[in-house]
Amino acid sequence: MICPLGLIRYHSQMHGSALTRRRFLQTSLGTSCGVGLLGQLVANTPPDLGERPRQDLGVTVLNPWGGRVPVSFIIDDSTCLVNMAHYGLPQFMEAWSGHRRRYAKVEWKQWPREIPDTFVHRFGSWCREHGVKGKYSVVPYPACVGWIDRAMPGWSRDELRASLKLVREFMVPDWDIHPEMISHTRVIDLQTGRPMAQRPDGSYWMENGGWTGERSVDEIAHYIAYALRLLQNVDLPCEGFTTPGGFGNPRQDRLALAGMQAVQDVFAPEVPHYFKYVVDQGTETQPRVECVRGLTTDRPECIVNVVSCTGDWFGGWTGIDHGEEAAGMDRLITADGLGGRLPEVIRAGAPAAMLCHWPGMYCNGTEVGYRIFQGAVKRLHEHFGERVIWMKVSEMARYWAARELTSWRVTETGSIHLQAPFAAPGFTLRLQPPSEESTPRLIGGQDRKTMTLTASTNDEITLPAGTWRRKKDAIELCIDLPKGISEIAWN
Ligand SMILES: [Zn+2]
Repeated sequence: MICPLGLIRYHSQMHGSALTRRRFLQTSLGTSCGVGLLGQLVANTPPDLGERPRQDLGVTVLNPWGGRVPVSFIIDDSTCLVNMAHYGLPQFMEAWSGHRRRYAKVEWKQWPREIPDTFVHRFGSWCREHGVKGKYSVVPYPACVGWIDRAMPGWSRDELRASLKLVREFMVPDWDIHPEMISHTRVIDLQTGRPMAQRPDGSYWMENGGWTGERSVDEIAHYIAYALRLLQNVDLPCEGFTTPGGFGNPRQDRLALAGMQAVQDVFAPEVPHYFKYVVDQGTETQPRVECVRGLTTDRPECIVNVVSCTGDWFGGWTGIDHGEEAAGMDRLITADGLGGRLPEVIRAGAPAAMLCHWPGMYCNGTEVGYRIFQGAVKRLHEHFGERVIWMKVSEMARYWAARELTSWRVTETGSIHLQAPFAAPGFTLRLQPPSEESTPRLIGGQDRKTMTLTASTNDEITLPAGTWRRKKDAIELCIDLPKGISEIAWN
């Protein structure tokens, strides 16, 4: 799933480079991975996966809660109040000739400077009502307009406070909060807090450009940690981060390692994660568990790279890059539920996270992108129902970390000894029972407490934690996997 195979693309390519929208679409439809199209993509430095545990044959981890396919909604370029498109576009046009050409006739000054909190609230309410979860960026120094932890020129202190409160209290339960670096436009000199000076050729260091190419892991980690601390200053919890477009492209390995160190330093969650990549072809959309180390110690480390299975097929990062509403919905999922990208991925049992940019939900007040999204979600629920489950990206990250990093050993009696570096709710296993009559029980933790598992019927899609069902030649069981040692034994 790494670049040379042509499967991974970089999100926000449009404002990560001089690539035009049209060319982006051609690229998406073609087989090229972008090498040669995008200077930043030339680097081929996949992140180190690190250690992997012993996992004996005969045991398979399925999708959570009986095999439900995770779906998620990844929102980039959101922040408090500021419309990133209005303030970011002139900076991208100044930095990149491609943007100057493409947007020369666009009246971006007419775009609203604000995406109002009333829209955030309306969007968040609709998502809650429909069970939608995902990731919501809060760019901490959006397009260099102001600092979320100090002042946002153009808005009062009360407005900024209220906006932060809305994210903290209303959005956080269903959404992971990520910084998208510091400004998402100019690279900031961490010594001075000012955007870095122009480069000798007259261009600028942009966060979504190639700045990280000549930086060490430490320098990149320092930069990401700085962004994370700004969110920490306003009590927004983070277990991960999003890269603005091409940030980290030149050295993907350094980005993963630096990101892991930064998240650990500032928020120290058990399972850090990040969002950067779009896999809009094929079904290799599983999160990747990277930089694994210390697996047998009591402080295992990793970072999970959660990908999206679509590009931004809503209103784009500008809010004007949308097509027809009906066509937009069909591209995601057709009315009969058979066509479109989401059914393709979900039918393969692969996680299906969609990507959008916040200005492309609001679309300068027309909300075209938002309607495409709502339509797609309704179709998804109509056709897939309980076969899918909405998860935050941190929940997907945790599940995959447990899936990849739990070790298991099948003993002579057929019982299974599990050693889990991380707990995971809804952990679902398929096992070979020693006989047709065998029924499973869970022996959990150091005190080896036995938990009876309840037999479930086969006609439900969902398998609640603590239940099992008999399938042809196998047993499927779902447990809230405890961290540490546990055992599945047979009656
Ligand atoms: Zn972005």
